[in-house]
Amino acid sequence: MKRIGILTSGGDSQGMNAAVRAIARSAMNAGLEAYGVKFGYKGLVEGNVFKMDSLNDLDGIINRGGTILRSARFPEFAEEETQLKAIEQLKKLGIDALVVIGGDGSYHGAMKLTKHGFNSIGVPGTIDNDIPGTDFTIGFDTAVGVATDALDRIIDTARSHQRIFVVEVMGRGAGDIALWSGISSGADAIVIPERKFDVKAIADKLTANRKKGKDYGIIVIAEGVMSAQDFKVELDKHGDFDSRAVTLAHVQRGGIPTPKDRVLASRFGDYAIHLLLEGKGGLAIGIRDNQLVAKDIIDTLENHKHQTDVSLADLNDRIRF
Ligand code: ATP
Repeated sequence: MKRIGILTSGGDSQGMNAAVRAIARSAMNAGLEAYGVKFGYKGLVEGNVFKMDSLNDLDGIINRGGTILRSARFPEFAEEETQLKAIEQLKKLGIDALVVIGGDGSYHGAMKLTKHGFNSIGVPGTIDNDIPGTDFTIGFDTAVGVATDALDRIIDTARSHQRIFVVEVMGRGAGDIALWSGISSGADAIVIPERKFDVKAIADKLTANRKKGKDYGIIVIAEGVMSAQDFKVELDKHGDFDSRAVTLAHVQRGGIPTPKDRVLASRFGDYAIHLLLEGKGGLAIGIRDNQLVAKDIIDTLENHKHQTDVSLADLNDRIRF
């Protein structure tokens, strides 16, 4: 093992740079060379790769959002021919292993490379927290913070104007961001893909709340359910509300990573190198009960699903007004 490649792919998430830094620094400090791949799998196939410098490329990036390696959506990478071209490029550059930081789609790319015999390790980097094999992904904590901050602000105006706000948060098919930001902001309802919901029951609750003196409300809805606007239209059919729909969208992906995301990314990145130096590979890295874990990436993706903690929705029902 002499050279490792690092690639970020899919949606960017806060803390990806901290992971890039940890992987590259840990590798360099162990005597390896680190190569950065620009623009995800697209850049890999095109050979857009550079040797990283510990000072010039990695200094001062631990607190920066986005990814210095940039990202790209490159659906062509699902084709075997394109994957083999990537392996050709990696071999040409003398790279022995690739560490991929990204979400579910990016993991599939790393799994395909592993299946073709190229040693790849997945580091979970997505705000959605939807990767199997880990309790938390890099960026989730920051995204929840951003969403909670936005909800706190929206609640101020909702209360002032006696309005109902339906606020859509990201998460792709997962309700994790909705659950964590919803509980944190004291939402009246949290609507997630993992749990059945009844729009009329939610509307009736808001109407009952108004009769009891709470004349405003917040509904947090995960993007995987439906849009805030569509939910608002449904809600309005069951009550006389002054309602508004808000979509938080990409603000959730930007900004300075929280210390928790920076530390998580640093632990994951260093662990990836530790495993490679031990001669291991083809793994998906994660954290379970605050312990770093590494599982076979093929088994992780083919036989496991991310488990959203749906009990948090029940918790919210027990503690709301
Ligand atoms: P996020 O969920 O945060 O958006 P992601 O990694 O899931 O991140 P995707 O756009 O789904 O984002 O995937 C990123 C890239 O991974 C794709 O553009 C493509 O290059 C590659 N990829 C996705 N699915 C596959 C697949 N089935 N096989 C090989 N490569 C894939």
